[in-house]
Amino acid sequence: MTDEFDIVVIGAGIAGASVAAELARSCRVVMLEREEYPGYHSTGRSAALFSEIYGNSVVRALSRASRNFFYAPPPGFAAHPLVKPRGSLYIAREEQLPHLETFAQNKDLAGSIRRLTPEDALRACPILRPDYVSAALLEDDAADVDVNELHQGFLRQFRNAGGRLIVNADVKSLPHNAGRWTAETNAGAFRAPLIVNAAGAWADAVAAKAGVAPLGIRPCRRTALLAELPSGLAADTWPMVIDIDENFYLKPDAGLLLISPADETPVAACDVQPEEFDIAVAIDRVEQATTLTFPRIRKRWAGLRSFAPDRSPVIGFDSGQPGFFWLAGQGGYGIQTAPAAAKLAATLLRGDSVGAFDDIPIAQLSPLRFTSRAAIRSHA
Ligand SMILES: Cc1cc2nc3c(=O)[nH]c(=O)nc-3n(C[C@H](O)[C@H](O)[C@H](O)COP(=O)(O)OP(=O)(O)OC[C@H]3O[C@@H](n4cnc5c(N)ncnc54)[C@H](O)[C@@H]3O)c2cc1C
Repeated sequence: MTDEFDIVVIGAGIAGASVAAELARSCRVVMLEREEYPGYHSTGRSAALFSEIYGNSVVRALSRASRNFFYAPPPGFAAHPLVKPRGSLYIAREEQLPHLETFAQNKDLAGSIRRLTPEDALRACPILRPDYVSAALLEDDAADVDVNELHQGFLRQFRNAGGRLIVNADVKSLPHNAGRWTAETNAGAFRAPLIVNAAGAWADAVAAKAGVAPLGIRPCRRTALLAELPSGLAADTWPMVIDIDENFYLKPDAGLLLISPADETPVAACDVQPEEFDIAVAIDRVEQATTLTFPRIRKRWAGLRSFAPDRSPVIGFDSGQPGFFWLAGQGGYGIQTAPAAAKLAATLLRGDSVGAFDDIPIAQLSPLRFTSRAAIRSHA
């Protein structure tokens, strides 16, 4: 038997859950997730940062548009605050000063950053080596995100509005007949005129099942670890510290230090695991920049950040197949952009006016920007 819906959402990570929650208020929506629980892949593996200055200008516009949701979510959305203040501090060595200057020149950053002297940077994060930092920029208004609370909030909204989540449902094929898609899974078949591809690292694979040409969305491995801090160090008020070329970052996390070598290694979509080499690189870079030595590692993991060729997310209907909608390519920014991305996606899917999204460069998010798939190959 095939169940009938208005919209089938594929993938129950933050992208699928957030758009499904928006849509379920006015449509019959089913969300299909291959894993046993939502959030097993990228959504459950992030560094949980909200920053309005992280990512390219398109990402930054989506993040700015998401701010209000994080600070004032709808009543009943979450039992706890979604965000906790945590500055983001960009540091540069002497040879990186031109990069810091170029970054600071971005016009939309002007109201969000202030320059710190190296001494002030060391006061903000006392483990930094005095001879390492030549200049620094601080974003005061960045924050830690409670990703689980955010994700569960969207899933709850979805369920309360009558949406159906089916887990252990791997979408194996997507035939299109008489204006309707059928998502054929091991847990049954689900039919609807509209499909939302929120499959994260598998977005191109899902497109292929639908006979839609891939966009060149490339999963890249990023490694992270939690290390112990020397006793007596109270790190909770430190900002997140990010190398201006994003060669590493570190961030206090519940009494430990989250460290990443900020690697971006292209890999096939999979349940990605950390490599010893990347862990060693992370430790080495942090030892060069700080007074930490041989920190004890409590936990290590890796996750996939999936990028379209121009590193902007893809939100919109495909040009080739009717009713096939992309919500993919969120890269390293899918948490902080989720509220605005979901609202925009739901508006486009309902065919409503996008007048409220004046501050978002919609054309630069649309899959139609890749007018020729050959152009994608030349980016790759
Ligand atoms: C180490 C690391 C640090 C990060 N830090 C940040 C950060 O600080 N801030 C930020 O905003 N972002 C950050 N990110 C990025 C963020 O985690 C991602 O952009 C976001 O989680 C992507 O969400 P998603 O829903 O698209 O993907 P996912 O969470 O991967 O969800 C996609 C889902 O689709 C399902 N699926 C795939 N194929 C099928 C199929 N055929 N049938 C059914 N289901 C299918 C998968 O099982 C998966 O659950 C980080 C990522 C990593 C790895």
